[in-house]
Amino acid sequence: MEFSGSGVSIEPAVEKRLLQAQITSIDQLLKLNARELLLRPKIGSGTVSKIVAALEEAGLSLAVDPYAAYECARESKLARDAELRSYFLCDSCRDAYAQLAFGDRRPEWVSDERIEGYCGHCNELREVRLSQWFLCGTCDRVVRSLGRGLASAKFVQASWAEVFRDVPGLSLNETDPVELRPRGKRSDVDRVATADFVADHPSGETMLGIELKSGRSAVAGGGIGSPMSQFQLDTTDCDDIKAAAERLDAPVFLFHAQVIGRAHAPTERFEGVGMWFASPWDMLPHLESVRPRPRETRDAAYFKPAMFRPFAEFPVYMKDGFRADLESMRRAGFPTLYR
Ligand SMILES: [Zn+2]
Ligand SMILES: [Zn+2]
Repeated sequence: MEFSGSGVSIEPAVEKRLLQAQITSIDQLLKLNARELLLRPKIGSGTVSKIVAALEEAGLSLAVDPYAAYECARESKLARDAELRSYFLCDSCRDAYAQLAFGDRRPEWVSDERIEGYCGHCNELREVRLSQWFLCGTCDRVVRSLGRGLASAKFVQASWAEVFRDVPGLSLNETDPVELRPRGKRSDVDRVATADFVADHPSGETMLGIELKSGRSAVAGGGIGSPMSQFQLDTTDCDDIKAAAERLDAPVFLFHAQVIGRAHAPTERFEGVGMWFASPWDMLPHLESVRPRPRETRDAAYFKPAMFRPFAEFPVYMKDGFRADLESMRRAGFPTLYR
């Protein structure tokens, strides 16, 4: 047998398959990579694993596949659509990406050029450098959306401070901040439905919660550009709003912030340009349909954007309408958001 005497102990059944596949020597085997081996008849992934293990024991390995899939840094697994993705990041956000989202993986490449520009994560004007990691398409979208989410949360806090400047009394606290983490790892806080913000009375009592959604589109009557024709919210998000309201024993309001990108070449700055709120009692009357999201199996509820009111009207609502709504919730429970 050609494989014997090579120092590699391959079990007879595997050796038989190799011979059937016209692979008759160790030298010939070592010239192949796993993908090429799998193309041979009678050789499946189980056989390849046994061969890899046997070779490893002898200190050998199959050839490197020049077309191997790259490993997505956020998932630490091979992904066919993983490719080099580029981000302009300040030094601290680059470290945070590496440590918190990518399992301590340094970037594949960081430019030597230091640019005065906006960091794609913290949205601050800083010295940034182009930084690259291998990421799949989904993780790239998630990571990019965090920068917009952070900018949106800051926008809510600034708008709240502005609108309630003359009506003090409610303090806004961020309870579910945007955070970097590997895919599939959620912190303990996230396992229970939490509102993104809560507004507390000076007595410490939580008066209301806010679930924040950020996007590029405006609502009619404000913001920048053409208004959205429908507002889409996953039914799981609707369920989370209801669960958060019941946990807080206080109404949770849906906020929509319009956050757009403005070029500061070669970087981009996120800017909040409009904010609206929807009372939970106004949602079901504006529901148009519940159907799967395009190209996905998850269900989404589609609402008429007319359920939103400009955030500037929020203090007046708090003064004139909130008490009655709060009593209604205490009496009849949090309203149904979709059906
Ligand atoms: Zn930064
Ligand atoms: Zn990924």
